[in-house]
Amino acid sequence: MKLLVVEDEVKLAEYLRKGLTESGYVVEVAHDGIDGLHLAMEGGHDLIVLDSMLPGIDGLALLAALRKSKQTPVLMLTAKVHVDDRVRGLRNGADDYLTKPFAFSELTARIEVLLRRAAPRPDAAEPTVLRLADLEMDLLRRKAVRAGQRLDLTAKEFTLLALLLRRQGEVLSRTELAAQVWDMNFDSETNVVEVAIRRLRSKIDAPFERALLHTVRGMGYVLEARQP
Ligand code: CA
Repeated sequence: MKLLVVEDEVKLAEYLRKGLTESGYVVEVAHDGIDGLHLAMEGGHDLIVLDSMLPGIDGLALLAALRKSKQTPVLMLTAKVHVDDRVRGLRNGADDYLTKPFAFSELTARIEVLLRRAAPRPDAAEPTVLRLADLEMDLLRRKAVRAGQRLDLTAKEFTLLALLLRRQGEVLSRTELAAQVWDMNFDSETNVVEVAIRRLRSKIDAPFERALLHTVRGMGYVLEARQP
């Protein structure tokens, strides 16, 4: 999931970048309205966190311009508490509002709600619990369990495992994993995928009798229950 944060207070912007990255999002930051609008129009973001008072183009004007062509969910941040401004923001196409100062946990909770609301659900059958053998992931509760034991995964490990589990039985290349989980174009110099796979194995496979995560030499990785 890729987020764009448009915030001119550099300290706050960095705090958001760090916190949201740790929460497992890919984060891009703009420090003024012009840059922000440019990046927002390029698209590719799942959600935009938009400060209302910005140099260049202010948040409401940015939103109005964006809404002419894009429906990316927008969470507005504002220092103002006047109801009028909230109403104006929501009329202009903001999806939600958060007044500064705010608790980081409230920000992430609202982001999750907006992302869930925006997620395409052609049939409500899109499963939120994924299973393979004795491994189970509850995507909504962000919980992974194997043989009844809760697995302690980082946000990236959780995203990686969910992808492998959703596409169980299919060999996924390093390039695809890097693109989907890290939003990274594959660069042969980096071994971020190998390192993450190794860590994930130590948590989901090593303590148990049967391995589920397999390396397919020269091709990638597959999650499947193989016959012993
Ligand atoms: Ca500001």
